[in-house]
Amino acid sequence: MNSNINWNFDNSYSKLPDSFKENIKPVKVKNPEIIILNNSLASDLNLNFSNINKDALSALFAGNELPLDSNSIAQAYAGHQFGHFTMLGDGRAVLIGEHLSRNNKRHDIQLKGSGKTAFSRNGDGRAALGPMLREYIISESMYYLNIPTTRSLAVVKTGEEIIRETSLNGAILTRVASSHIRVGTFQYIAARNKKDELEILLDYVITRHYPEILNSKNKALELLKIVLEKQVDLVINWMRVGFIHGVMNTDNMSISGETIDYGPCAFMDYYDPQTVFSSIDKMGRYAYCNQPMITKWNLARFAESLIPLINENQDKAIKAATEIINSFETLYENKWLNMMRNKLGLSGKDDKDKFLILDLLTWMHNKKIDYTNTFVYLMGDEIQKNKIYEDKDFKFWKSKWNERLETNNNSSEKCLELMKSVNPIVIPRNHKIEEALKAANQNNFDPFNKLLEILINPYKKNKEIIEYQIPSSRNEKYQTFCGT
Ligand code: AMP
Ligand code: MG
Repeated sequence: MNSNINWNFDNSYSKLPDSFKENIKPVKVKNPEIIILNNSLASDLNLNFSNINKDALSALFAGNELPLDSNSIAQAYAGHQFGHFTMLGDGRAVLIGEHLSRNNKRHDIQLKGSGKTAFSRNGDGRAALGPMLREYIISESMYYLNIPTTRSLAVVKTGEEIIRETSLNGAILTRVASSHIRVGTFQYIAARNKKDELEILLDYVITRHYPEILNSKNKALELLKIVLEKQVDLVINWMRVGFIHGVMNTDNMSISGETIDYGPCAFMDYYDPQTVFSSIDKMGRYAYCNQPMITKWNLARFAESLIPLINENQDKAIKAATEIINSFETLYENKWLNMMRNKLGLSGKDDKDKFLILDLLTWMHNKKIDYTNTFVYLMGDEIQKNKIYEDKDFKFWKSKWNERLETNNNSSEKCLELMKSVNPIVIPRNHKIEEALKAANQNNFDPFNKLLEILINPYKKNKEIIEYQIPSSRNEKYQTFCGT
């Protein structure tokens, strides 16, 4: 069958040396049934579903039928997981091909949950419905929050049960990414100690993602600089909306700067820098406030893998790479300050801005106040009558903020416009996600679709969404689990 939906495959990664991947097809599933299709993303990708029936779509997004030009592979990679180096790879995912959309924009099309590969180790290669729907809705939410991310095109139920602690519905997610090349991909090739392979990977990545540095004198160093900046921007976006990735292992850090691998991630409601949701993150390594430093740590691992390509003289290579890695703090601090200024509608710079920002965060922390809704309040919209904003410390802070706003050259409309562009009025609240997943597991997709519809407009004021803006009870300790 040629699934005639306008695929325009041009597979480049599968042409790389054998050591980079395993050629493998998704393992067929018993009874595929498509349950979600992202029509808006499909149209961005220039795909057309009008000539294909539901069975064919189900077969396609389950991997039972591959597009004619597919050349499917599982990618090899390694990674530091909670600080420990391991050889990994796509153990439950297959890249079916690279699709070129308009203007030849290249997208990896990956089926996640597609069966065992050479990299599966003890796993079954499968994924459960709940976690795949969770990835779908949170990644789409991130996209509409204007945060670089992989996206989700479809979810298919496999008609097979998978065994975890209990028996669960199996599912496959179609993930779309500008590529699935990770810090861990470089670590994998570097660990093989073959400089020619590392060079191939470097050139491939630069050609695919950053062609502007193809002719630079030291491509490896330039790539390190670019990836560092991309990752700083990404983590600042996460901090802006209170997103906690939950498992920032180096295999889950994309070279393209997209958020990837939505496992135990969740959004913080009550402001506490130490917030951790993941049940396996016992030490809080990936807590909200640790995300910037972990980003730097991961970038240092990336730098290490590039050392042989930076300079033949190892000492010189290390020195040059260290200098770039050490630029992280200043870059982060400046960009973070600017991001927080935007959240508060401050234009220009004032030496005291940092204290103003920290005072607000400290107040939120001490009083356990909802992060998102505090900025909504500052934008003049109180979600629920909340006495907490009559607190005298907060009022004092607000008077200082107002004084600072007066030094803005902008009108108050401009300032509000700025705030509205960066402060979401709605985020995927943990209890709402759980509610939607629970219903979906019982074949009721209404709460899921309603939530999705609301998350598609996170910056727009809408009276109907109050129920989606209220945080869960403070007493509920929310826990997330890895998507296995
Ligand atoms: P993740 O926690 O999803 O980032 O996955 C970490 C590693 O475990 C990757 O190499 C995955 O491919 C692998 N993995 C996760 N779940 C499974 C599974 N059910 N079967 C095989 N491999 C898996
Ligand atoms: Mg991963």
